[in-house]
Amino acid sequence: MNILFMGPPGAGKGTQAERIVDEFRVPHISTGDAFRLAMSQGTALGVKAKSFVDQGLLVPDEITNGIVKERLEKPDCDNGFLLDGFPRTIAQAEALDEMLASMGKRIDHVINLKVDRDLLLGRLTGRRICKSCGATYHVLFNPPKVDNVCDKCSGELYQRSDDTEEKVGTRLDEYTNKTAPLLEYYAGKGLLREVDGQQDIDAVTAEISSLLRGQA
Ligand SMILES: [Zn+2]
Repeated sequence: MNILFMGPPGAGKGTQAERIVDEFRVPHISTGDAFRLAMSQGTALGVKAKSFVDQGLLVPDEITNGIVKERLEKPDCDNGFLLDGFPRTIAQAEALDEMLASMGKRIDHVINLKVDRDLLLGRLTGRRICKSCGATYHVLFNPPKVDNVCDKCSGELYQRSDDTEEKVGTRLDEYTNKTAPLLEYYAGKGLLREVDGQQDIDAVTAEISSLLRGQA
């Protein structure tokens, strides 16, 4: 079973991906991991990719696509895989279709975790850090006993500038705008499965699992 996983930051994609790969016994392939592997093994593509990364440049599509292809050709993908973080553009999606076709494979399901923007904002802006000892808290998931005061050292808590509603909102909107054409692309192929990511974690896993098993 060849699965594509999509969802905005804060939707719980990582957690769900880990549970699904355990259940279906397929490797979890994230572009980041594939890049690190290629670079650490010093493959030809890995060396090329590293030269772009080291210069702080965007890695061109043909290298990214090649690294994904090398990863998908490894024997642990024979019975399927869960791909996460790729494709990000229509051009990459088309390249993925081509590389899979050349291996006699195809994407079977595209899982998209849907969570309301306001809920994501709450999750993604809730982190607080202690100015004195660096301990991290979350106003929803791991609140300090006293508002804005560190449990460990009584230091003052602060919000990182990256975590402000404005910055997070921009990040979420960018994600939505970039992803919309991809969702359309896969919907057009009849592969898109929308999952309500606002249910509790177990319910989300159960829904994804039954979709993948064709029982939903
Ligand atoms: Zn502290």
